[in-house]
Amino acid sequence: MEQKTFGIGVVGLGVMGRNLALNIERNGFPLVVYNRDTTKMRHLVEGEGAGKNILGVETLEALVGNLERPRRIILMVSAGAAVDAIINQLMPLLSPGDILIDGGNSYFADTDRRAEQLMLNEIRYIGMGVSGGEEGALWGPSLMPGGQREAWESLAAVLRKVAAKAEDGAPCVAYIGPRGAGHYVKMVHNGIEYADMQLIAEIYDLLRRGLGLSNSELAEVFAEWNQGELRSYLVEITADILRKKDAETGKDMVDVILDEAEQKGTGKWTSQNALDLGAPVPTIHAALEGRILSSFKVRRVEASKHLRGPSNRYQGSREKLIASARDALFASKILAYAQGLELMRIASEAYQYDLQLGEIAGIWRAGCIIRASLLGDIMLAYRRRADLPNLLFDEVFREAIETRQSAMRTVLETSVQLGIPMLAVGASVAYLDSYRSAWLPANLIQAQRDYFGAHTYKRVDKQGVFHTDWT
Ligand code: NAP
Repeated sequence: MEQKTFGIGVVGLGVMGRNLALNIERNGFPLVVYNRDTTKMRHLVEGEGAGKNILGVETLEALVGNLERPRRIILMVSAGAAVDAIINQLMPLLSPGDILIDGGNSYFADTDRRAEQLMLNEIRYIGMGVSGGEEGALWGPSLMPGGQREAWESLAAVLRKVAAKAEDGAPCVAYIGPRGAGHYVKMVHNGIEYADMQLIAEIYDLLRRGLGLSNSELAEVFAEWNQGELRSYLVEITADILRKKDAETGKDMVDVILDEAEQKGTGKWTSQNALDLGAPVPTIHAALEGRILSSFKVRRVEASKHLRGPSNRYQGSREKLIASARDALFASKILAYAQGLELMRIASEAYQYDLQLGEIAGIWRAGCIIRASLLGDIMLAYRRRADLPNLLFDEVFREAIETRQSAMRTVLETSVQLGIPMLAVGASVAYLDSYRSAWLPANLIQAQRDYFGAHTYKRVDKQGVFHTDWT
Protein backbone atom coordinates (compact mmCIF):
# COMPACT_ATOMS: atom_id res chain seq x y z
CA MET A 1 0.00 0.00 0.00
CA GLU A 2 1.23 3.47 -0.82
CA GLN A 3 2.72 5.27 2.18
CA LYS A 4 0.91 8.50 3.05
CA THR A 5 3.58 11.07 3.80
CA PHE A 6 1.49 14.12 4.42
CA GLY A 7 0.80 14.97 8.03
CA ILE A 8 -1.21 18.16 7.63
CA GLY A 9 -3.91 19.37 5.27
CA VAL A 10 -4.89 23.00 4.69
CA VAL A 11 -8.30 23.95 3.28
CA GLY A 12 -8.62 27.57 2.15
CA LEU A 13 -5.69 29.27 0.47
CA GLY A 14 -6.69 32.91 0.80
CA VAL A 15 -4.34 35.48 2.29
CA MET A 16 -3.95 33.59 5.58
CA GLY A 17 -4.22 29.95 4.49
CA ARG A 18 -1.61 30.23 1.79
CA ASN A 19 0.93 31.87 4.07
CA LEU A 20 0.25 29.48 6.93
CA ALA A 21 0.78 26.57 4.50
CA LEU A 22 4.16 27.98 3.45
CA ASN A 23 5.09 28.50 7.11
CA ILE A 24 4.16 24.90 8.02
CA GLU A 25 6.18 23.50 5.12
CA ARG A 26 9.19 25.68 5.90
CA ASN A 27 9.18 24.25 9.39
CA GLY A 28 9.55 20.71 8.07
CA PHE A 29 5.99 19.41 7.79
CA PRO A 30 4.89 18.22 4.33
CA LEU A 31 1.30 19.15 3.60
CA VAL A 32 -1.64 18.77 1.21
CA VAL A 33 -3.55 21.88 0.22
CA TYR A 34 -6.99 22.48 -1.23
CA ASN A 35 -8.94 25.57 -2.25
CA ARG A 36 -12.51 25.70 -3.59
CA ASP A 37 -11.32 27.89 -6.47
CA THR A 38 -8.51 25.69 -7.80
CA THR A 39 -6.64 28.59 -9.42
CA LYS A 40 -5.51 29.69 -5.93
CA MET A 41 -4.18 26.20 -5.26
CA ARG A 42 -2.30 26.17 -8.60
CA HIS A 43 -0.97 29.64 -7.93
CA LEU A 44 0.54 28.39 -4.68
CA VAL A 45 1.98 25.05 -5.82
CA GLU A 46 3.32 26.44 -9.09
CA GLY A 47 4.48 29.73 -7.58
CA GLU A 48 6.02 30.16 -4.14
CA GLY A 49 5.30 26.55 -3.23
CA ALA A 50 7.08 25.09 -6.30
CA GLY A 51 9.72 22.49 -5.43
CA LYS A 52 8.46 22.33 -1.86
CA ASN A 53 6.76 19.55 0.05
CA ILE A 54 3.30 20.84 -0.79
CA LEU A 55 0.83 18.69 -2.70
CA GLY A 56 -2.01 20.60 -4.34
CA VAL A 57 -5.28 18.72 -4.80
CA GLU A 58 -8.54 19.61 -6.51
CA THR A 59 -10.99 17.74 -4.29
CA LEU A 60 -11.53 17.24 -0.59
CA GLU A 61 -11.52 13.47 -1.26
CA ALA A 62 -7.96 13.74 -2.56
CA LEU A 63 -6.98 15.89 0.42
CA VAL A 64 -8.33 13.37 2.91
CA GLY A 65 -6.96 10.42 0.90
CA ASN A 66 -3.41 11.77 1.01
CA LEU A 67 -3.24 12.36 4.76
CA GLU A 68 -1.80 9.99 7.32
CA ARG A 69 -4.06 9.12 10.28
CA PRO A 70 -5.22 10.65 12.44
CA ARG A 71 -5.80 13.28 9.81
CA ARG A 72 -5.06 16.84 10.82
CA ILE A 73 -6.83 19.40 8.64
CA ILE A 74 -6.57 23.14 9.15
CA LEU A 75 -9.50 25.18 7.82
CA MET A 76 -8.55 28.74 6.85
CA VAL A 77 -11.80 29.83 5.25
CA SER A 78 -14.03 32.84 5.88
CA ALA A 79 -15.78 32.67 9.25
CA GLY A 80 -19.47 31.73 9.38
CA ALA A 81 -21.35 29.65 6.80
CA ALA A 82 -18.17 28.66 4.92
CA VAL A 83 -16.86 26.77 7.96
CA ASP A 84 -20.12 24.81 8.32
CA ALA A 85 -20.16 24.12 4.57
CA ILE A 86 -16.62 22.70 4.59
CA ILE A 87 -17.28 20.65 7.73
CA ASN A 88 -20.40 19.15 6.12
CA GLN A 89 -18.42 18.25 3.00
CA LEU A 90 -15.59 16.72 5.03
CA MET A 91 -17.69 14.76 7.51
CA PRO A 92 -18.46 11.73 5.30
CA LEU A 93 -14.75 11.50 4.40
CA LEU A 94 -13.30 11.52 7.92
CA SER A 95 -12.70 8.73 10.43
CA PRO A 96 -13.00 8.71 14.23
CA GLY A 97 -10.01 10.38 15.86
CA ASP A 98 -9.30 12.76 12.96
CA ILE A 99 -8.72 16.39 13.94
CA LEU A 100 -10.23 19.47 12.33
CA ILE A 101 -8.66 22.80 13.21
CA ASP A 102 -10.58 25.99 12.43
CA GLY A 103 -7.95 28.74 12.16
CA GLY A 104 -10.36 31.48 11.05
CA ASN A 105 -11.95 34.19 13.15
CA SER A 106 -14.99 32.12 14.04
CA TYR A 107 -17.43 33.30 16.68
CA PHE A 108 -16.62 31.33 19.83
CA ALA A 109 -20.21 30.16 20.34
CA ASP A 110 -20.18 28.66 16.81
CA THR A 111 -17.00 26.81 17.77
CA ASP A 112 -18.64 25.56 20.99
CA ARG A 113 -21.54 24.25 18.87
CA ARG A 114 -19.33 22.67 16.18
CA ALA A 115 -17.06 21.02 18.77
CA GLU A 116 -20.06 19.41 20.45
CA GLN A 117 -21.58 18.23 17.16
CA LEU A 118 -18.33 16.77 15.87
CA MET A 119 -17.69 15.00 19.14
CA LEU A 120 -20.81 12.92 18.47
CA ASN A 121 -18.97 11.55 15.41
CA GLU A 122 -15.70 11.19 17.34
CA ILE A 123 -14.07 13.91 15.27
CA ARG A 124 -11.82 16.10 17.38
CA TYR A 125 -12.18 19.83 16.87
CA ILE A 126 -9.78 22.63 17.62
CA GLY A 127 -10.91 26.26 17.33
CA MET A 128 -7.67 28.17 16.91
CA GLY A 129 -7.33 31.93 17.04
CA VAL A 130 -4.58 33.06 14.68
CA SER A 131 -3.20 36.57 14.97
CA GLY A 132 -0.49 38.41 13.12
CA GLY A 133 -2.11 39.07 9.74
CA GLU A 134 -0.56 38.02 6.48
CA GLU A 135 3.07 38.41 7.61
CA GLY A 136 2.43 36.66 10.91
CA ALA A 137 0.86 33.68 9.16
CA LEU A 138 3.99 33.36 7.02
CA TRP A 139 6.74 34.05 9.56
CA GLY A 140 5.18 33.23 12.90
CA PRO A 141 1.72 34.08 14.23
CA SER A 142 0.45 33.99 17.77
CA LEU A 143 -1.75 30.90 18.00
CA MET A 144 -4.63 30.37 20.44
CA PRO A 145 -5.87 26.76 20.12
CA GLY A 146 -8.87 25.56 22.13
CA GLY A 147 -10.63 22.20 22.11
CA GLN A 148 -9.84 18.71 23.43
CA ARG A 149 -6.52 18.73 25.22
CA GLU A 150 -5.33 15.47 23.67
CA ALA A 151 -6.06 16.86 20.19
CA TRP A 152 -3.86 19.85 21.05
CA GLU A 153 -1.14 17.47 22.23
CA SER A 154 -1.06 15.71 18.88
CA LEU A 155 -0.63 19.12 17.17
CA ALA A 156 1.65 20.78 19.68
CA ALA A 157 4.94 19.89 17.95
CA VAL A 158 3.78 21.47 14.68
CA LEU A 159 2.18 24.54 16.23
CA ARG A 160 5.16 25.29 18.49
CA LYS A 161 7.43 25.37 15.44
CA VAL A 162 5.07 27.44 13.31
CA ALA A 163 4.27 30.03 16.00
CA ALA A 164 6.18 33.25 16.64
CA LYS A 165 8.88 33.16 19.31
CA ALA A 166 8.93 35.65 22.17
CA GLU A 167 12.20 37.35 23.15
CA ASP A 168 12.98 34.56 25.63
CA GLY A 169 12.52 32.01 22.83
CA ALA A 170 9.15 30.71 24.09
CA PRO A 171 6.74 29.81 21.27
CA CYS A 172 3.65 32.01 21.15
CA VAL A 173 1.18 29.17 21.39
CA ALA A 174 -0.41 27.43 24.36
CA TYR A 175 -3.43 25.27 24.98
CA ILE A 176 -6.14 27.78 25.83
CA GLY A 177 -9.03 25.64 27.08
CA PRO A 178 -11.96 23.46 25.97
CA ARG A 179 -14.45 24.03 23.09
CA GLY A 180 -14.48 27.65 21.87
CA ALA A 181 -11.93 28.95 24.41
CA GLY A 182 -9.30 29.64 21.73
CA HIS A 183 -11.67 31.64 19.57
CA TYR A 184 -12.98 33.42 22.67
CA VAL A 185 -9.49 34.59 23.56
CA LYS A 186 -8.82 35.64 19.96
CA MET A 187 -12.04 37.67 20.04
CA VAL A 188 -10.94 39.52 23.19
CA HIS A 189 -7.48 40.01 21.64
CA ASN A 190 -9.23 41.82 18.80
CA GLY A 191 -11.33 43.88 21.23
CA ILE A 192 -8.14 45.03 22.94
CA GLU A 193 -6.65 45.70 19.49
CA TYR A 194 -9.58 48.02 18.69
CA ALA A 195 -8.96 49.90 21.96
CA ASP A 196 -5.21 50.11 21.33
CA MET A 197 -5.74 51.51 17.83
CA GLN A 198 -8.35 54.06 18.92
CA LEU A 199 -6.10 55.28 21.77
CA ILE A 200 -3.18 55.77 19.37
CA ALA A 201 -5.47 57.56 16.90
CA GLU A 202 -6.77 59.94 19.59
CA ILE A 203 -3.25 60.83 20.73
CA TYR A 204 -2.23 61.35 17.08
CA ASP A 205 -5.22 63.69 16.71
CA LEU A 206 -4.27 65.73 19.80
CA LEU A 207 -0.69 66.15 18.59
CA ARG A 208 -1.77 66.84 15.01
CA ARG A 209 -4.64 69.26 15.51
CA GLY A 210 -3.72 70.47 19.00
CA LEU A 211 0.00 71.06 18.46
CA GLY A 212 0.05 71.26 14.69
CA LEU A 213 2.82 68.65 14.38
CA SER A 214 3.61 67.58 10.83
CA ASN A 215 3.46 63.93 9.85
CA SER A 216 7.24 63.63 9.89
CA GLU A 217 7.37 65.20 13.38
CA LEU A 218 4.63 62.81 14.49
CA ALA A 219 6.54 59.88 13.01
CA GLU A 220 9.56 60.88 15.10
CA VAL A 221 7.46 61.12 18.26
CA PHE A 222 5.96 57.65 17.75
CA ALA A 223 9.32 56.15 16.75
CA GLU A 224 10.88 57.55 19.93
CA TRP A 225 8.01 56.24 22.06
CA ASN A 226 8.58 52.85 20.49
CA GLN A 227 12.00 52.76 22.13
CA GLY A 228 10.52 52.89 25.62
CA GLU A 229 7.69 51.38 27.63
CA LEU A 230 5.26 51.88 24.73
CA ARG A 231 7.27 49.54 22.51
CA SER A 232 4.71 47.65 20.45
CA TYR A 233 3.86 46.62 16.93
CA LEU A 234 1.02 49.15 16.64
CA VAL A 235 3.16 52.11 17.76
CA GLU A 236 5.98 50.95 15.46
CA ILE A 237 3.74 50.73 12.38
CA THR A 238 2.17 54.09 13.25
CA ALA A 239 5.61 55.70 12.87
CA ASP A 240 6.10 53.87 9.55
CA ILE A 241 2.65 54.88 8.27
CA LEU A 242 3.29 58.56 9.07
CA ARG A 243 6.46 58.51 6.94
CA LYS A 244 4.91 56.85 3.91
CA LYS A 245 4.31 58.88 0.71
CA ASP A 246 1.52 58.22 -1.75
CA ALA A 247 3.08 57.03 -5.02
CA GLU A 248 0.33 58.71 -7.05
CA THR A 249 0.24 62.21 -5.57
CA GLY A 250 3.50 62.43 -3.62
CA LYS A 251 1.46 63.51 -0.59
CA ASP A 252 1.72 61.87 2.80
CA MET A 253 -0.17 58.59 2.50
CA VAL A 254 -2.03 59.05 5.79
CA ASP A 255 -3.53 62.33 4.51
CA VAL A 256 -5.00 60.79 1.36
CA ILE A 257 -6.79 58.03 3.29
CA LEU A 258 -10.48 58.71 3.98
CA ASP A 259 -11.23 59.08 7.71
CA GLU A 260 -13.89 56.37 7.93
CA ALA A 261 -12.83 53.32 9.97
CA GLU A 262 -14.32 49.99 8.95
CA GLN A 263 -14.72 46.83 11.00
CA LYS A 264 -15.22 43.14 10.46
CA GLY A 265 -17.03 42.32 13.69
CA THR A 266 -14.66 40.77 16.23
CA GLY A 267 -14.41 44.02 18.22
CA LYS A 268 -18.20 44.31 18.24
CA TRP A 269 -18.50 40.69 19.41
CA THR A 270 -16.21 41.53 22.35
CA SER A 271 -18.40 44.47 23.33
CA GLN A 272 -21.61 42.50 22.94
CA ASN A 273 -20.25 39.57 24.93
CA ALA A 274 -18.98 41.86 27.69
CA LEU A 275 -22.48 43.34 27.94
CA ASP A 276 -23.97 39.83 28.10
CA LEU A 277 -21.57 38.83 30.87
CA GLY A 278 -21.85 42.14 32.74
CA ALA A 279 -18.11 42.81 32.42
CA PRO A 280 -16.98 46.46 32.23
CA VAL A 281 -14.96 47.23 29.07
CA PRO A 282 -15.66 50.94 28.46
CA THR A 283 -12.46 51.59 26.47
CA ILE A 284 -13.35 48.79 24.05
CA HIS A 285 -16.93 50.08 23.71
CA ALA A 286 -15.51 53.58 23.12
CA ALA A 287 -13.20 52.29 20.40
CA LEU A 288 -16.22 50.88 18.59
CA GLU A 289 -18.13 54.13 19.03
CA GLY A 290 -15.12 55.94 17.58
CA ARG A 291 -15.23 53.76 14.46
CA ILE A 292 -19.01 54.16 14.14
CA LEU A 293 -18.84 57.95 14.51
CA SER A 294 -16.04 58.08 11.96
CA SER A 295 -18.33 56.33 9.47
CA PHE A 296 -20.77 59.28 9.70
CA LYS A 297 -18.50 61.21 7.35
CA VAL A 298 -21.19 62.99 5.33
CA ARG A 299 -23.09 64.04 8.46
CA ARG A 300 -19.87 65.14 10.17
CA VAL A 301 -18.87 67.31 7.24
CA GLU A 302 -22.35 68.87 7.26
CA ALA A 303 -22.34 69.37 11.06
CA SER A 304 -18.83 70.88 11.01
CA LYS A 305 -20.31 73.83 9.09
CA HIS A 306 -23.07 74.39 11.68
CA LEU A 307 -21.69 73.47 15.08
CA ARG A 308 -18.86 75.64 16.26
CA GLY A 309 -16.41 74.72 19.03
CA PRO A 310 -13.24 76.15 20.56
CA SER A 311 -10.01 76.67 18.65
CA ASN A 312 -8.17 73.39 18.28
CA ARG A 313 -4.75 74.97 18.79
CA TYR A 314 -2.93 74.43 22.10
CA GLN A 315 -1.12 77.44 23.53
CA GLY A 316 1.01 75.80 26.25
CA SER A 317 4.35 74.00 26.20
CA ARG A 318 4.69 71.62 23.28
CA GLU A 319 7.28 69.41 25.02
CA LYS A 320 5.17 69.06 28.14
CA LEU A 321 2.06 68.08 26.18
CA ILE A 322 4.01 65.50 24.15
CA ALA A 323 5.39 63.98 27.37
CA SER A 324 1.91 63.92 28.93
CA ALA A 325 0.47 62.36 25.78
CA ARG A 326 3.03 59.54 25.99
CA ASP A 327 2.16 58.82 29.63
CA ALA A 328 -1.57 59.11 28.94
CA LEU A 329 -1.30 56.64 26.08
CA PHE A 330 0.60 54.16 28.24
CA ALA A 331 -1.80 54.45 31.19
CA SER A 332 -4.90 54.23 28.98
CA LYS A 333 -3.42 51.20 27.28
CA ILE A 334 -2.87 49.47 30.63
CA LEU A 335 -6.49 50.23 31.54
CA ALA A 336 -7.73 48.76 28.24
CA TYR A 337 -5.71 45.58 28.77
CA ALA A 338 -6.98 45.40 32.38
CA GLN A 339 -10.55 45.47 31.03
CA GLY A 340 -9.90 42.76 28.42
CA LEU A 341 -8.18 40.54 30.99
CA GLU A 342 -10.96 40.93 33.52
CA LEU A 343 -13.50 40.12 30.81
CA MET A 344 -11.61 36.88 30.16
CA ARG A 345 -11.53 36.10 33.88
CA ILE A 346 -15.31 36.51 34.07
CA ALA A 347 -15.88 34.52 30.85
CA SER A 348 -13.58 31.77 32.08
CA GLU A 349 -15.90 31.22 35.02
CA ALA A 350 -19.11 31.61 33.02
CA TYR A 351 -18.06 29.19 30.26
CA GLN A 352 -15.74 27.00 32.37
CA TYR A 353 -12.82 27.67 30.05
CA ASP A 354 -10.20 27.65 32.84
CA LEU A 355 -8.22 30.41 31.09
CA GLN A 356 -4.67 30.98 32.30
CA LEU A 357 -4.38 34.74 31.88
CA GLY A 358 -0.63 34.92 32.48
CA GLU A 359 -0.02 32.31 29.82
CA ILE A 360 -2.31 34.14 27.40
CA ALA A 361 -0.38 37.39 27.97
CA GLY A 362 2.79 35.35 27.33
CA ILE A 363 1.65 34.12 23.92
CA TRP A 364 0.61 37.64 22.91
CA ARG A 365 4.19 38.89 23.40
CA ALA A 366 5.12 38.18 19.78
CA GLY A 367 3.43 37.39 16.48
CA CYS A 368 0.10 39.07 17.14
CA ILE A 369 -1.14 42.57 16.36
CA ILE A 370 -1.24 43.74 20.01
CA ARG A 371 2.27 42.49 20.75
CA ALA A 372 3.90 44.94 23.12
CA SER A 373 6.61 44.96 25.75
CA LEU A 374 3.80 45.63 28.25
CA LEU A 375 2.60 42.03 27.77
CA GLY A 376 5.81 40.65 29.34
CA ASP A 377 5.02 42.70 32.45
CA ILE A 378 1.41 41.50 32.43
CA MET A 379 2.64 37.90 32.25
CA LEU A 380 4.82 38.53 35.31
CA ALA A 381 1.91 40.11 37.20
CA TYR A 382 -0.11 36.90 36.78
CA ARG A 383 2.95 34.85 37.79
CA ARG A 384 3.04 36.85 41.02
CA ARG A 385 -0.66 36.14 41.54
CA ALA A 386 -2.48 33.76 39.19
CA ASP A 387 -5.96 34.71 40.48
CA LEU A 388 -5.46 38.48 40.14
CA PRO A 389 -9.02 39.89 39.95
CA ASN A 390 -7.85 42.87 37.89
CA LEU A 391 -4.43 44.03 36.71
CA LEU A 392 -4.89 47.20 38.79
CA PHE A 393 -4.49 45.13 41.98
CA ASP A 394 -0.93 44.25 40.99
CA GLU A 395 1.59 46.47 42.77
CA VAL A 396 3.65 47.24 39.63
CA PHE A 397 0.59 48.25 37.62
CA ARG A 398 -0.95 50.17 40.51
CA GLU A 399 2.18 52.27 40.60
CA ALA A 400 2.34 52.60 36.81
CA ILE A 401 -1.18 54.07 36.82
CA GLU A 402 -0.67 56.23 39.89
CA THR A 403 2.44 57.88 38.48
CA ARG A 404 0.78 58.60 35.13
CA GLN A 405 -2.75 59.50 36.08
CA SER A 406 -2.13 63.22 36.31
CA ALA A 407 -0.76 63.14 32.74
CA MET A 408 -3.85 61.22 31.65
CA ARG A 409 -6.11 63.82 33.26
CA THR A 410 -4.13 66.71 31.73
CA VAL A 411 -4.40 65.20 28.28
CA LEU A 412 -8.14 64.57 28.62
CA GLU A 413 -8.75 68.05 30.04
CA THR A 414 -6.73 69.60 27.21
CA SER A 415 -8.63 67.64 24.58
CA VAL A 416 -11.96 68.77 26.04
CA GLN A 417 -10.82 72.39 26.08
CA LEU A 418 -9.59 72.18 22.49
CA GLY A 419 -12.70 70.33 21.29
CA ILE A 420 -10.68 67.32 20.13
CA PRO A 421 -12.63 64.10 20.80
CA MET A 422 -11.08 61.50 23.08
CA LEU A 423 -13.64 58.76 23.50
CA ALA A 424 -11.21 56.01 24.48
CA VAL A 425 -8.87 58.04 26.71
CA GLY A 426 -11.97 59.48 28.39
CA ALA A 427 -13.42 55.99 28.88
CA SER A 428 -10.14 54.79 30.40
CA VAL A 429 -10.03 57.66 32.88
CA ALA A 430 -13.68 57.12 33.84
CA TYR A 431 -13.04 53.38 34.18
CA LEU A 432 -10.18 54.07 36.55
CA ASP A 433 -12.22 56.53 38.58
CA SER A 434 -15.22 54.20 38.72
CA TYR A 435 -13.12 51.19 39.63
CA ARG A 436 -11.38 53.01 42.47
CA SER A 437 -14.60 54.54 43.84
CA ALA A 438 -15.90 52.81 46.95
CA TRP A 439 -19.12 54.75 46.36
CA LEU A 440 -20.84 55.47 43.03
CA PRO A 441 -24.06 57.40 42.43
CA ALA A 442 -26.00 54.21 41.65
CA ASN A 443 -28.04 54.78 44.84
CA LEU A 444 -29.84 57.57 42.98
CA ILE A 445 -30.47 55.31 39.98
CA GLN A 446 -31.95 52.69 42.29
CA ALA A 447 -34.18 55.33 43.85
CA GLN A 448 -35.34 56.48 40.41
CA ARG A 449 -36.05 52.87 39.36
CA ASP A 450 -38.06 52.31 42.48
CA TYR A 451 -39.88 55.67 42.03
CA PHE A 452 -41.13 55.05 38.49
CA GLY A 453 -41.27 51.26 38.37
CA ALA A 454 -41.40 49.91 41.92
CA HIS A 455 -38.22 47.99 41.08
CA THR A 456 -37.15 47.94 44.77
CA TYR A 457 -33.72 48.65 46.24
CA LYS A 458 -31.33 47.39 48.91
CA ARG A 459 -30.27 49.50 51.88
CA VAL A 460 -26.82 50.27 53.28
CA ASP A 461 -27.92 49.72 56.88
CA LYS A 462 -29.87 46.45 56.81
CA GLN A 463 -30.41 43.29 54.75
CA GLY A 464 -33.42 42.79 52.52
CA VAL A 465 -35.25 44.28 49.55
CA PHE A 466 -37.27 47.48 50.02
CA HIS A 467 -39.80 49.65 48.25
CA THR A 468 -40.83 53.21 49.09
CA ASP A 469 -44.10 54.92 48.25
CA TRP A 470 -42.36 57.97 46.74
CA THR A 471 -45.43 60.11 46.14
P1 NAP B 1 -9.55 35.43 2.26
O1 NAP B 1 -8.24 35.82 1.69
O2 NAP B 1 -10.75 36.21 1.90
O3 NAP B 1 -9.82 33.89 1.89
C1 NAP B 1 -11.02 33.27 2.20
C2 NAP B 1 -10.89 31.77 1.91
O4 NAP B 1 -12.11 31.15 2.31
C3 NAP B 1 -10.66 31.44 0.47
O5 NAP B 1 -9.79 30.35 0.38
C4 NAP B 1 -12.07 31.06 0.00
O6 NAP B 1 -12.08 30.17 -1.08
C5 NAP B 1 -12.55 30.34 1.23
N1 NAP B 1 -14.01 30.22 1.24
C6 NAP B 1 -14.92 31.21 1.44
N2 NAP B 1 -16.17 30.71 1.40
C7 NAP B 1 -16.04 29.38 1.16
C8 NAP B 1 -16.96 28.31 1.03
N3 NAP B 1 -18.28 28.52 1.16
N4 NAP B 1 -16.48 27.08 0.78
C9 NAP B 1 -15.16 26.88 0.68
N5 NAP B 1 -14.22 27.83 0.81
C10 NAP B 1 -14.67 29.07 1.05
O7 NAP B 1 -9.52 35.40 3.85
P2 NAP B 1 -8.29 35.34 4.84
O8 NAP B 1 -7.82 36.73 5.14
O9 NAP B 1 -7.30 34.34 4.38
O10 NAP B 1 -9.02 34.83 6.17
C11 NAP B 1 -9.31 33.47 6.42
C12 NAP B 1 -9.79 33.38 7.88
O11 NAP B 1 -8.74 33.83 8.74
C13 NAP B 1 -10.99 34.30 8.18
O12 NAP B 1 -11.82 33.68 9.15
C14 NAP B 1 -10.36 35.53 8.76
O13 NAP B 1 -11.23 36.25 9.59
C15 NAP B 1 -9.21 34.91 9.55
N6 NAP B 1 -8.09 35.82 9.84
C16 NAP B 1 -7.66 36.72 8.92
C17 NAP B 1 -6.59 37.55 9.23
C18 NAP B 1 -6.08 38.56 8.24
O14 NAP B 1 -5.25 39.40 8.64
N7 NAP B 1 -6.47 38.50 6.97
C19 NAP B 1 -5.96 37.45 10.46
C20 NAP B 1 -6.40 36.49 11.36
C21 NAP B 1 -7.47 35.68 11.05
P3 NAP B 1 -12.28 30.72 -2.60
O15 NAP B 1 -10.92 31.18 -3.00
O16 NAP B 1 -12.73 29.52 -3.34
O17 NAP B 1 -13.30 31.82 -2.54
